[in-house]
Amino acid sequence: VISDPLSVPLACTVRGCGLPLRRNERALVCGRGHAYDIARRGYVNLLQPQDRKSRVPGDSKAALAARARLLAAGVGAAVVEACLARADVLIARHDSVVCDLGCGSGDLLGALATRRPIAGVGIDLSLPAIEHAARRFPDLDWVVANADRHLPLLSARVSLLFSLHARRNPAESARVLEPGGFLLMGVPAPDDLLELRTAIQGQPWTRNRMQALLAEHTPFFTLVDRWTTRTRQPLAREQILDLLVGTYRGVRTAAAGRAAALGATDVTLASEFVVFRRS
Ligand SMILES: [Zn+2]
Repeated sequence: VISDPLSVPLACTVRGCGLPLRRNERALVCGRGHAYDIARRGYVNLLQPQDRKSRVPGDSKAALAARARLLAAGVGAAVVEACLARADVLIARHDSVVCDLGCGSGDLLGALATRRPIAGVGIDLSLPAIEHAARRFPDLDWVVANADRHLPLLSARVSLLFSLHARRNPAESARVLEPGGFLLMGVPAPDDLLELRTAIQGQPWTRNRMQALLAEHTPFFTLVDRWTTRTRQPLAREQILDLLVGTYRGVRTAAAGRAAALGATDVTLASEFVVFRRS
């Protein structure tokens, strides 16, 4: 358990600054005097004005609630379990900084922190997601930030970085990891949600995201592990609708009408994972 929230190595997000953020009574402040209020719930918002214009505003409350219901019902639990087991092996020290990029509701870091002491920080563009995570896991650090360009972290300080079904930033991931640090990434497998996509679109498209991911990260990282989690389980109609609302994949809006006609169906949930070591 971290006794002092916001003890992780955060960096100022003012363009061209990047100095370490230190905590005072109610705010995080850098050496140039840029200050960020700590919210009552304990998280901090590091978004800059230019970030707020992002065309991808992050997860809505509806998407967040849908995913929370699914996870509570055990849908997607295999992914969390597999990542936790790997993380246990990869984290060497007890003061290790572990960061989840695109942390969403914070369940992965929250579960990891119940297994072992970590200095954990979750970063997400969605304010509702970070508020949700900070309320449930107050001993960890939660940050609203746009991780597309610069990660709000100091260089070479992170031991383990998660990026699951999130946007990719290989150069910045390499910058913030300590030498020998690990990046654990997950992407949907080509047959993920196959039955839903078939029902909604007539014929499912398949897209191999892993090839692009490997190519992007090879200049910075060494591949040390790779696996797939795959479950096929019966889902009720309500859970299928939650999957469509909560998914990152692009089926959500186009699907709404046809999804309403779906009944209970067996659905494949499949994700591919890799672990990279910083070269
Ligand atoms: Zn600054």
